[in-house]
Amino acid sequence: KPPVVGLTGGIGSGKTAVSDYLRDTLGVTIVDADVIARDVVAPGQPAFNAIVQRFPDALKVDGTLNRAWLRAHVLPDDDARHWLESVTHPAIREVIEKQLQTAPPPYPVLVSPLLFESGQALLCDYVAVVDAQEQQQIARTSRRDGNDEELIRTIMAKQWPRQRRLENADYIIDNTSSLESLQKATLAFHQHILAKF
Ligand code: ATP
Repeated sequence: KPPVVGLTGGIGSGKTAVSDYLRDTLGVTIVDADVIARDVVAPGQPAFNAIVQRFPDALKVDGTLNRAWLRAHVLPDDDARHWLESVTHPAIREVIEKQLQTAPPPYPVLVSPLLFESGQALLCDYVAVVDAQEQQQIARTSRRDGNDEELIRTIMAKQWPRQRRLENADYIIDNTSSLESLQKATLAFHQHILAKF
């Protein structure tokens, strides 16, 4: 049975660069926790209906959820946040498990920014961490999104610190250098997985 490989890393560490290369060049199936988290609150999904019932103001005129409104109102309110998580997390986990179980060879990769923090690492046989220096994370993210350093630092503060991620990694994909060396490191990682399992 092929292993379930987890892939995580802090904001702007290079998760997408690694998973794009794994998928597009090496033919690995990517299961993306962020995409699934959006899908389970799409109109018509059970979680969507429950959220709109509890937070009518979260409904936009186009019939979809205002996720920014929801985040802003739910993040500071522990009760509301726990309720929202109790509605969305089981649905997210169900879709992740289904996609992992039905993934074609060689092996599926579960990509998640909060793989450790959310407990999704428990679904994985082997976890790789994409690693860059904090200054590089900030510089690359602000170049990509145009966000200021303060917002990026706020997001980083909600994630595990770099050292704790590294201590929990089975494998570290170094992204402290160029994009070209990141691709080489990703290829070496892929070959390591094929040889190990
Ligand atoms: P997020 O958690 O915010 O989704 P991520 O971990 O998926 O981020 P990427 O989007 O892959 O990170 O990388 C962040 C930005 O930095 C992208 O614009 C990417 O092209 C760029 N980048 C990644 N690695 C390097 C590198 N080694 N050198 C220069 N730029 C890089």
